[in-house]
Amino acid sequence: MLMTNTKYTPTIGLEIHAELKTRTKMFCDCLNDPLERRPNTHVCPICLGHPGTLPVINKKAVEALIMIGMALKGDIPQFSKFDRKNYFYPDLPKGYQISQYDIPLVFGGVLNGIRLTRIHLEEDTGRLIHVTSDKGQVTSLVDFNRAGVPLMELVTEPDVENAEEAVQFARELQLILRYLGISDADMELGQMRVEANMSVRQATSNKEQGNAKLGTKVEVKNINSFKAVYGAIEYEIKRQTEAIENGEKVIQETRGWDDATQATVSQRKKESAHDYRYFPEPDLPPLDLAKFNLTELKTAIPELPQEKRIRFAKEFALAPEKIEVLVSDRRMAEFFEESVSELALEDNKHLPKEIELLSNYLTSDLRGLMIEAGIGFNAEKISPEHFADLIEFISHNRVSSRGAKDILKKMFETGLDPHAILKESDMEQISDTTALKTMAEQILIANPNAVKDYKSGKLNALQFLIGKAMAELKGKGNPGVLQEIFKDILED
Ligand code: ZN
Ligand code: MN
Repeated sequence: MLMTNTKYTPTIGLEIHAELKTRTKMFCDCLNDPLERRPNTHVCPICLGHPGTLPVINKKAVEALIMIGMALKGDIPQFSKFDRKNYFYPDLPKGYQISQYDIPLVFGGVLNGIRLTRIHLEEDTGRLIHVTSDKGQVTSLVDFNRAGVPLMELVTEPDVENAEEAVQFARELQLILRYLGISDADMELGQMRVEANMSVRQATSNKEQGNAKLGTKVEVKNINSFKAVYGAIEYEIKRQTEAIENGEKVIQETRGWDDATQATVSQRKKESAHDYRYFPEPDLPPLDLAKFNLTELKTAIPELPQEKRIRFAKEFALAPEKIEVLVSDRRMAEFFEESVSELALEDNKHLPKEIELLSNYLTSDLRGLMIEAGIGFNAEKISPEHFADLIEFISHNRVSSRGAKDILKKMFETGLDPHAILKESDMEQISDTTALKTMAEQILIANPNAVKDYKSGKLNALQFLIGKAMAELKGKGNPGVLQEIFKDILED
């Protein structure tokens, strides 16, 4: 009998909701702007659920779902429909959510080796705000700006084995949603929300593992950062394992993640599964997907992050960590490639070295300036052509690395051409060999002792001479070229 190393095996499935970035809401013409601070600004009788109003399907939201489905290799059925999911909650004005039950827009699919069950389209709920008065009385207010915002829900098979895999899955999904431009999927802003369904089962052998019944399922909600995804899953694996070891029963329940205590806490016990009384939405026609231009949608899917990683590794021979930074933002990756093409136009002699330089200046210096300015990747003021020019300056010793950083900062602030900045400033490095040779000769005449030292084998006299020359040149001499010149003369 084969023994497994671990006595307890977690079984984890994920449910991820993401708000879609359409102009209007899912079933009405209200602006889709759930971050609007003035409460109840983007509302109308439809998203407030007034009786007698009729919803209209947002075509863009359906298209977004088809695209993510295709990108994740799911199947798009010929026909789909919407259903009512009935439940009461103060943030749900209609008393039901329009969702999809038995025929979602996407069946199956796979991401990071984790099988997907389905992806469906639904509407978001409103938001409750609880206010405590001076006397300690709590009043609950409701803001419907978010009510009716298009929401996709992705459900995975229970293929996730640990917290790390769950985080990687969620991160990759976020990246793909951003590449497709269909959601900003910022977890901190509530644009992407992760729930984990998990259980732990005892397994003493592979064979038993295959036959073993799954443990009691616990649902963990309120997970609103990647760190919390990791923390909540680790915590639950430990809690459930300990319960089994102590001979306690794991209760089927919904738990929430509490950031303050770094623990999951029980929210509600589930005596039985919810009965939402799903039934087909009578106010919406069935979705005939033959009416959508699937070929066009497929063509609109850009190169996805994983394909880009593989291609970048092949084409640019960069370290995986560098590729990861570039690929983490589609616009940065594109800016990188455009700048590389500009470099290649100049001269191909030092291309590999220049690509390396370019990736460094892009992922650390330029990105650093953007982070400092509190903006995402935004190259509005710097064209790939200008950026490549700056890299050429460095590669051809026209500026020192210090000078290059100063020029880049000016480019970022003003949008000026690096040639213009260099001309205006006093930063151009002196690499002209004739000028440097004249200077070197003067230094040698003025320092006969250092020359003697060097010739008697004290090689660090060379650094002393370069230092003298640099001082005369006010730091603008190219140290590499100076070294060559001194060596040439001294060893002649
Ligand atoms: Zn509305
Ligand atoms: Mn849902």
